[in-house]
Amino acid sequence: MLKKAFSLFLLLMLLPVFSLGETVVTSFYPIWLLALNLADGIPGLTVRNLAAPDTGCLHDYQLQTRDMKALSEADLFLINGAGMESYVDLVASAFPDLPVADASAGVPLLYGLDALQIGEAEEAESGEANAHIWLSAENAIRMAENLARAMADRFPVYAPRITENLDGLTARLAALDAELREGLSGLPRQGIITFHEAFPYFAQAYGLKVLAVVNREPGETLTPSQLAQLADAIVALDCPPLFVEPQYEDLSARTLAAETGARIFTLDPVVTGPEDQVPLDYYETVMRQNMQTLQEALSD
Ligand SMILES: [Zn+2]
Repeated sequence: MLKKAFSLFLLLMLLPVFSLGETVVTSFYPIWLLALNLADGIPGLTVRNLAAPDTGCLHDYQLQTRDMKALSEADLFLINGAGMESYVDLVASAFPDLPVADASAGVPLLYGLDALQIGEAEEAESGEANAHIWLSAENAIRMAENLARAMADRFPVYAPRITENLDGLTARLAALDAELREGLSGLPRQGIITFHEAFPYFAQAYGLKVLAVVNREPGETLTPSQLAQLADAIVALDCPPLFVEPQYEDLSARTLAAETGARIFTLDPVVTGPEDQVPLDYYETVMRQNMQTLQEALSD
């Protein structure tokens, strides 16, 4: 028993010394998906994600001890940017030599919201960019290009394969983008109400209109007066469908639906997903599900 434990201890001591290859660390699920695609077929390159797959968006996310450990072992850190990772300054001071690649570079950002807001509205008030850029497939292509360039610069030996992977990924995302544009154009309705500011880029890209966003802190429920205000607004807007997200509870949505007769659907912003054996086309699969949901919800 003791001998076995000692062997395990020895193995653990030796592992870091003998583990060949390099590590890319990503900040959250959408960036992880892009990086996994770009690193596909490169055994020497490990892609690790910081936030647990059930974290969702990183709003107000605090780095955990295990995140700091992962960053200390990283050769490159890939982030969404546009303000999603509020901790970037902390990472830069803790790991001054760690290169950080910002996927949002060159992506046209949206500020504030062109929609009715009820509840907390931090982003619009402070004039910060909306960070949910990956929900337009066209933006996702730009993001993949930025990340691929950073990875190829950092690991020149893998550059040909990274470029090849980028080409394949870009072709798939361009096909998805065309499919979404086609599939969501000319629907009888365009207006949606969401419960998180995740969909302005999606709406802008695919001809929808976010009529209202019910901003609330996760876990916080709306006050009765906020709910009443929103119910009135929903009726005034001719009861557009309500879109909840699988990552957040939908208590307010159910109350509102019961009061107004508006229907509830689920849109997935692809901030969570499988942790093991991640399908490389997971983003596309979920975006196609979102398209089908919207086609049904906006058909009358
Ligand atoms: Zn978010």
